[in-house]
Amino acid sequence: MTLHLYDTYERSLRPFEPIQAGMAGLYACGPTVYDYAHIGNLRTYLFVDGLRRVLEFNGLQVRHVMNITDVGHLTSDADSGDDKVEAKSARSGKSAWDIAAEFTAAFESDLRQLNILPPTVWCRATGHIAEQIAFIRDLEGKGYTYRTADGIYFDTTRQDSYGRLARLNRDGLQAGKRVDLGDKRDICDFALWKFSGLPGQRQMEWDSPWGLGFPGWHIECSAMAEKHLGAYFDIHCGGEDHVAVHHSNEIAQTEARHGTRLANFWLHGAFLKTQDAKMSKSSGDFLRLQSLVGQGVDPLAYRYLCLGAHYRSSLNFSDQALLAAASGLARLRASVHGLGEAGDEPDAAWLARFAAQINDDLNFPRALAVAWELLKSALPDGVKKATMLRFDTALGLDLLNWQPLAVAVPQQVLAWMEERAIARAQRRWSDADGLRAQAREAGYEIEDTPQGQQARPIS
Ligand code: AMP
Ligand code: ZN
Repeated sequence: MTLHLYDTYERSLRPFEPIQAGMAGLYACGPTVYDYAHIGNLRTYLFVDGLRRVLEFNGLQVRHVMNITDVGHLTSDADSGDDKVEAKSARSGKSAWDIAAEFTAAFESDLRQLNILPPTVWCRATGHIAEQIAFIRDLEGKGYTYRTADGIYFDTTRQDSYGRLARLNRDGLQAGKRVDLGDKRDICDFALWKFSGLPGQRQMEWDSPWGLGFPGWHIECSAMAEKHLGAYFDIHCGGEDHVAVHHSNEIAQTEARHGTRLANFWLHGAFLKTQDAKMSKSSGDFLRLQSLVGQGVDPLAYRYLCLGAHYRSSLNFSDQALLAAASGLARLRASVHGLGEAGDEPDAAWLARFAAQINDDLNFPRALAVAWELLKSALPDGVKKATMLRFDTALGLDLLNWQPLAVAVPQQVLAWMEERAIARAQRRWSDADGLRAQAREAGYEIEDTPQGQQARPIS
């Protein structure tokens, strides 16, 4: 089956055909680095990583671009409030640049622990100010902007297509509007460039044709995506909360400048939810990956948990669900490890069964079920192992590198093993079998391996 992906723009499952044969350009909106990522954010990056791995499974060379939002993301989507990074700086006493560096490093560490492949290109908003200014100038030249007391704004009324991604009902919005627009002409208009305000008020600010200031959050993604992938590329993705505002605005900007809708496919991951609603970075009270690790949870158990839910379904997080995932992962690892050395070739029929699931809009829950069925199948162990390792290039569970913890085998069992070695050397087979049975009763399986006898606890 060829890869099919659900495109939010068309609201339908479409066959994926790369714009340039053999390649896929992928842009994922990255984190706003004013705090740690919570496990909800990380679910979105696990979804993006799964998408990338599936593209690669299909033989495509992926150019994966991820931005770091280190400036311009305001506390309110309505272009008001503080810049999140500057506000954190004011609260913590650290510089805005240090805040951004600290939480970027923490984010990269989270990705590593989750075995998320590093993007081909990392890009920072503060490293692309010239590109953003050039973009805004172009929009200005084309008549899409206007100036207010606090910035340069995008005039969304110039575009009939504005909000198509979100199936926005403009008339309904206008009728129901009760918000204070400030100097904005329309509720949907958004800031491209904000003025700095009083001197010394901001740490991150730049000169521009419109005066000292900083870029808006949406222009950064259009400008960086264009720089690193071109004005029209294969896939743009992010969390479902981006559909209504951020991604709609990215499309508006690029469509105004180039007439394209930026990406051929728009993919969105559903949210992770918790019963106690502790999943908001801005409230400062949320669950981090590091908190789970501190409780002795393997980060890949969280990855396994996320694999068990389709990316377009919301996932309810609970300790019980995480524990069940941890035990599922432990069983999977032990079974795969127990297969021994991988053979040369994976099994083509099983690979096709697996591919059919991941190519059906990244159906990892069903792909995982195929992996479990494979383990129970009658294939020779070496072929099973080679096939599982190939599956794992998409699952990302790092099954190849997992090793059981070396367990201390009790002295008594070691003594029985020694006696058994002598019994076998003397061809006293029934004595040797009796010693093995004794060890088994004590909870240890003795195995004969090319390296000699080995004992492992019976789980
Ligand atoms: P932010 O750092 O706030 O810009 O968010 C980073 C990414 O996490 C974005 O793609 C959001 O859509 C996504 N996100 C935010 N909250 C959640 C959540 N509870 N579950 C899944 N993804 C989320
Ligand atoms: Zn973005």
